[in-house]
Amino acid sequence: MAMMDDIEKSDSEISTAIKSEIKRQKEGLELIPSENYVSKAVLQAMGSILTNKYSEGYAGKRYYGGNRNIDTIESLAIARAKKAFNVEHANVQPYSGSPANFAVYCAVCKYGDVIMGQNLPDGGHLTHGWKTSMTGQLFKSVSYHVKPDGYLDIEEIRKLAIENKPKLIWVGATAYVREFPFEELGKIADEVGAYLAADIAHISGLVIAGVHKSPSPYAHIITTTTHKTLRGPRGGMIMVTRKGIEKDSELPQKIDRAIFPGLQGGPHDHTTAAIAVALGESLRPEFKVYAQQIVKNAKALGQSLMDNGIKIVTNGTDNHMVLVDLTPFGKGKGVLLQDAMDEANLTANKNTIPNDPSSPFYPSGLRLGTPAITTRGMKEEEMKLIGKWIAGIAKEVCGNELPEDKEQRNAFLKKFKDDIKSNQKVLATRKEVIELCRKFPLYPGMGILG
Ligand SMILES: *Cc1c(COP(=O)(O)O)cnc(C)c1O
Repeated sequence: MAMMDDIEKSDSEISTAIKSEIKRQKEGLELIPSENYVSKAVLQAMGSILTNKYSEGYAGKRYYGGNRNIDTIESLAIARAKKAFNVEHANVQPYSGSPANFAVYCAVCKYGDVIMGQNLPDGGHLTHGWKTSMTGQLFKSVSYHVKPDGYLDIEEIRKLAIENKPKLIWVGATAYVREFPFEELGKIADEVGAYLAADIAHISGLVIAGVHKSPSPYAHIITTTTHKTLRGPRGGMIMVTRKGIEKDSELPQKIDRAIFPGLQGGPHDHTTAAIAVALGESLRPEFKVYAQQIVKNAKALGQSLMDNGIKIVTNGTDNHMVLVDLTPFGKGKGVLLQDAMDEANLTANKNTIPNDPSSPFYPSGLRLGTPAITTRGMKEEEMKLIGKWIAGIAKEVCGNELPEDKEQRNAFLKKFKDDIKSNQKVLATRKEVIELCRKFPLYPGMGILG
């Protein structure tokens, strides 16, 4: 497929940057748990002429003419979402996960209402009421936490809910390695009359495949991104469950109105088509095998890290993610490991861990995920190697102390980044990483991408 022919001729600056990014993706191991590689079919839908169309409104009720094909596409996306997640209603128009979540507030809360969500440094998402997000400023946000062992503290959640009587409770996170207790949270929401919104942005692919419990029987509302384990284009969805309609028969209309005209204008129809394609893929038997392998790989990666002397939060994982606890090396070491791994073509992100002794910008952990490398076809044997490589780099660089003083720290990190470029251990690992990547090619046979 000649994806790049025209852009190469017309815009060399952008095409050069895209080509460098293709090389980076092909020769590196993508270990950020929120990333994935979409199929060629999804890429083709994304790159289609559907981007030319305006279609404000919903199927059969548009504000522009010429929408018969868009109606077909959006209706297919909705039908597949309802089937995949076993829900009564789906809105596939949110531009991404964060706007989807904001629309939920607009649908069920008023300015100043009490809301509850998982604390950000404990793994929660910005949009669940963190203070720097508008969701923490427009609403009275009460955060709940994980226990020192890394598991959600259900007793605290119940106590806070009874004390604060929230209108809306979020369950879902960006850095949580255990199964979400949807059933328990559903009971707590019912006890206090709150809506329970399950934000399954990270795990939606696992939920569809049945390798993570579904929130559908317990939550009123489900939101998700479409680009993480679901392996679709960047986008978002909001769904209403049967339980949600039983609580509030108007909920589907409230959600739809919150998205349009409440928050958004025209939907991104090329994205909607790509979401439909990804959902179609997720309903096939191969996807179930894929999702099972994601979890097997995450468990194998965690085990390899532990076998090589690295501590991980909760000593394991139930999903696609492993949280490395670097506190045995001191505090705030996540940044050192992230930067050194980057130099070895191992892409991951620094992250806070439960009770982090440092700050979100200099956290003491690292978050790893297996969705992307599993898409590439890697299995337990490769996880063993990758765990060994990461452990080796951690031991090489995490002994460095981060200065407390801000200026000294910046100078130290600048020198660290320079030094790491010629570190023999890191360079030797990079060579091995590139060799492994060549054995698991990305987009083989796809013209310039191949
Ligand atoms: C990724 C994520 C989001 C936000 O998605 P964006 O598409 O980046 O806006 C929301 N909630 C959770 C739990 C996430 O992990």
